[in-house]
This record gives sequence, structure tokens and C-alpha cells, in this order.
Amino acid sequence: MSYTKGLHEVGDGLYAYLQPDGGWGWSNAGLIADGEQTLLIDTLYDLALTEEMLAAMRRAVPAAARIDTLVNTHANGDHCYGNQLVGDARIVASERTAAEMGELPPATMAALLEQAPAMGELGAFFARCFGAFDFTGIELTLPRETFSGELELRVGDTQLRLLEVGPAHTRGDTLVHVPAARVLYTGDILFSGAHPIAWAGPVSNWIAACERILALELDTIVPGHGPLAGPAEVRELQAYFEYLYEQASECHQQGMTSLQAARAISMQRWADWGEGERLAVNLANIYSELDQAEPPGPLEAFTQMAELAQS
Ligand SMILES: [Zn+2]
Repeated sequence: MSYTKGLHEVGDGLYAYLQPDGGWGWSNAGLIADGEQTLLIDTLYDLALTEEMLAAMRRAVPAAARIDTLVNTHANGDHCYGNQLVGDARIVASERTAAEMGELPPATMAALLEQAPAMGELGAFFARCFGAFDFTGIELTLPRETFSGELELRVGDTQLRLLEVGPAHTRGDTLVHVPAARVLYTGDILFSGAHPIAWAGPVSNWIAACERILALELDTIVPGHGPLAGPAEVRELQAYFEYLYEQASECHQQGMTSLQAARAISMQRWADWGEGERLAVNLANIYSELDQAEPPGPLEAFTQMAELAQS
């Protein structure tokens, strides 16, 4: 299937909304419709993008004029800042995701973008990542219903399962599995064709999430960013993290910093993946797992990525 902006049918009543090129903030979302019932998987980074998506969904699926349920796969703004546009829906997320969602409010993003021109290389990098989005006027709308572990939901006659596999990308990452259709919506547990980013980790838990996905019988995977995928892309992601873990352990033993490791490790196999600067954060995360320390916070993470992007 071609990687074009808009709604793509991935099964009977199952849709993916894709936003090329899938880079920073350009997230995917999903729609499940059965009879008059609808469930939306994630909203987008700002109100205009979310409204554009909802309009496309209404055109293709009249029942989507009303979204009954919204599932947020995780707490990053590019998956929940548009929630207010479906504010009447039953909004469901894992307990950890709901708790994390308020930590980086849209107003902070708006303020950071405003200050970016005075923040040197870091500001320039930040503006390059997020300057295309409008964070003004957003009222963060949080989940009203939470779960831990697993939750079964129904949309008309369609059965689906929410599977919490975090902490990995964030603290409470959730997969949406439609077993009968062999379809899985992964949120940012899968970036297709780009480097993942381990904000929370531990990376070993993300590897376990890959194994869990690969144990499911799947034909189509809707990633959180990038083109539609399948099990092969998850296997490649698992190989990436296993390789990083092994290489990082060696560099750590040799006394290199994680940023030095990011410059030293050969990434030839994944040379065509986007957002290579995320390697800095993934290695820092593995280092903190090896040191049994807290992973770097967002400011430290962006500082390291800006440095790696420069070199
Ligand atoms: Zn995302």
C-alpha cells in the first residue's frame, strides 16, 4: 500500500490515518468502525491536523461523525494533543499513560518554540523538529478511564484488546489488537523506517514488547509513525535494540560516554532510517539501565540529540 497522507483501509471497518514523512510529530492514528459504533486510536499533534483527520474520517465513514471511544496509546503530545476535539468520547488509556500525559503540556511546547531562537543549537534543533505545529489554544483533555495490563473492548461486533507493554517508548505504551482481522495498532512501539526513541525504557522491556508482538498472528501493523508495516519491521526493530544493547555494553565497559558511543557504533544496517539523532537517547537509556540510574530527562535528551545531529 502506498505511503500517502490520509485514511487507508487496513481491514473490514479498520483504518489507518497516515501522515508522511513520519518524522518528529508526524504521527499516525487509527479508526475502527462497526455499524454505528466508532473507536479512534490517538489524536494528532495540533487542533488543525486533528480536525483535518476527523473530516477525512467523516467523509469515508459516516458513523465517524460521532467518535464513541478514544484510546490514547501513550502520553506524547503527537498522540493526544487533539483530544479536545473528541472531548465527549469515552477516553481510555493505561493508568501510567494517563498519569504521564499532564507532564509536558501544550503551553510548555508553545513557550519553548517561542524561546527557541534564543536557545542556540538546541533551540534550532527543537524548532526544526516541532516548528511546523501550532501548540496554541490546546486544552489538554485527559483520559477518564484507565486500566493496567489488559482491557477488552467492543466496537459493534468487533472485539479488540488493549495490551499495555510499557514502560518502553513512554511509561505506559499500549497496543490495540484486533485478533479476528490480524491487525495491530502499535502507537510508538513501532516507528516504521525510522529510529525509535526510548524516552522511558528500559530498552530490554521494549525488546520484550517486540517478542510479544511477534507471538501474535498478524498481517498488518499500523505503526505510530511511518508507512504500514508487518512482523518483518518488528523483527528489524528487535534486532536494532539487541545490537544497540550489545554495542552499548562494550562501549560502557571501555569507559566511553553514551554520546561517544553514539558516534563510534556502526549503524550501517539502518543507514536509511530517519531521525538518526535518536541514537543518542537510546544509548543514554541503555547506559542508565546498565548503571541502574534514571534515564535522561527531555532537556538532556534534546541537548544530546542536537549535538549528535551536528556532528
Ligand atoms: Zn509519536
